[in-house]
Amino acid sequence: MTGLVIVGHGTRSTAGVDQFAALVERVRRRGDIGDVEGGFIELSRPPLTDAVGALVARGHRALVALPLVLTGAGHGKGDIPAAMAREQERHSGLTYRYGRPLGPHPLLHTALEERIDAALAGASQAGTESADADRAGTWVALIGRGSTDPDANAEVAKVARLLWEGRGYAGVEPGFISLAQPSVPAVLERLRRLGARRIVVAPYFLFAGVLPDRIVAQSAEFAAAHSDLDVRVAEVIGDCDALADLVRERYAEALGGDIRMNCDTCAYRVLMPGFADKVGRPQRPHDHPDDPVGHHHDHGHDHHDHHGHEHGSVAVVGGGPGPDDLITVRGKALLDAADVVVVDRLAPQGLLAGLRPDVLVVDAAKVPRGPSMAQEAINAALVSHAKAGRQVVRLKGGDPYVFGRGHEEVQACQAAGVPVTVVPGVSSAIAAPALAGVPVTHRGVAHDLTVVSGHLPPGHPDSLVDWAALARARGTVVLLMAVDTIAKIAAVLIEHGRAPETPVLAVQDAGLPDQLSVPARLDEIGAAAAREEIRPPAVFVVGPVVAVPTTGPTG
Ligand code: SAH
Repeated sequence: MTGLVIVGHGTRSTAGVDQFAALVERVRRRGDIGDVEGGFIELSRPPLTDAVGALVARGHRALVALPLVLTGAGHGKGDIPAAMAREQERHSGLTYRYGRPLGPHPLLHTALEERIDAALAGASQAGTESADADRAGTWVALIGRGSTDPDANAEVAKVARLLWEGRGYAGVEPGFISLAQPSVPAVLERLRRLGARRIVVAPYFLFAGVLPDRIVAQSAEFAAAHSDLDVRVAEVIGDCDALADLVRERYAEALGGDIRMNCDTCAYRVLMPGFADKVGRPQRPHDHPDDPVGHHHDHGHDHHDHHGHEHGSVAVVGGGPGPDDLITVRGKALLDAADVVVVDRLAPQGLLAGLRPDVLVVDAAKVPRGPSMAQEAINAALVSHAKAGRQVVRLKGGDPYVFGRGHEEVQACQAAGVPVTVVPGVSSAIAAPALAGVPVTHRGVAHDLTVVSGHLPPGHPDSLVDWAALARARGTVVLLMAVDTIAKIAAVLIEHGRAPETPVLAVQDAGLPDQLSVPARLDEIGAAAAREEIRPPAVFVVGPVVAVPTTGPTG
């Protein structure tokens, strides 16, 4: 059964941490979700990475991650997904479905109503007033966290309205303890002017914390200055069955793939007045003080403050042979999350059009300095962007380790202490023949495949290729970077024993709209390539597999 990781933001309040832990335990005890862990993205223990690590250690590779937040603001929209993305880098193959914020939800409204009634209970000690009459004389100030996300603030206003509907309170007004208006004193003053005599301040908060404490303090201060008013503060929602029910519901919803998140008024998507800077802003994980730095080792870096500088990293991503959709899912996800993309000429260029406008695209082919320095300059660019806290994708053609110099870049990052991962790609060595209808192996035809660089011609003093051995072998040879050397290579293969009539197929621009195939015998391929003006990028596939018949179009 799919494991659940409940993700909290974290708080400096031990009571808040305890309530979170109690809720996780309550959900776990119910036993209807197979495996449950909880963790925080900052401030409190256990860190998210431990919670995910525990689930992975128990064999989970697919999780539901549920942000334990009431409204969809920065933590739920950005920080927690970013922290999960980092977990995915730590645990290869880890996937997760992301749950929706908890509110607004009737279970929460009922819980709030109960907390308000409990605060009111003291008001009817004389026993003369019924609960209904209590409500009719009671105004509620529903106090949300407050956010720089207008949609999240609007959700608090919506909950205030829903809480008012049909419950008989004199009125419910929204307010905020931080970052948004009206403040607690401002909303209390508003209610006073409306004629309120009794006010219940209801924190729209899951658990105890610094901000709920501040609500209590500000309410007490306001009450002290207005002795004619009866001001009470209700408890936070807290660990309770209703919350566990809601967690269960959000879990099921995520599993079912039926996430109805409200994206219409999301400031990260839509330009909202006053919030233009949010549109498309990249999201990065917070650093939990207990997080290991980097991937599998700790370099003992300083821990940074909330919203301080973040750690950058480099992903060396194989983009596949050229079309936009032959990149891996993991590579695409990293590309979507990148701040900087350093791209090769042969990498899928079409993917660049889908990047956010604020992503810095560095064309590696245009990196300054002479050709021998180019690789060093690329390495330096990767390291310096990552050290500045950016998420860097090094987008390469095909697979990074097939004649891609990918490992030199990985080594450079490692030497500089920059976290680096490799995402394999679909190599043109295999994909180009396939896209032209040639299988590089085939039962009864070829049981070996050799991928060879034709960059250096046979006989070149720096060449590491045993051409004579390749000539004696019977299987498939795929030559990359061989447009200029194909005639010489063919001659050497024949000289050492390959049959002159061995079929060869040149495949140029595989997977792209101009894809071109030129077939020829081994002893004629040099002339044919020249005549057809074969130009890079092209592969030559040599061997009996070229003659294996196809029975239909390969698409
Ligand atoms: N890492 C890359 C190869 C880099 S070397 C990979 O795994 O595919 C560059 C060579 O790759 C080119 O000279 C050409 O031989 C081959 N190549 C790359 N893309 C190609 C394409 N779309 N069609 C044919 N050959 C391609």
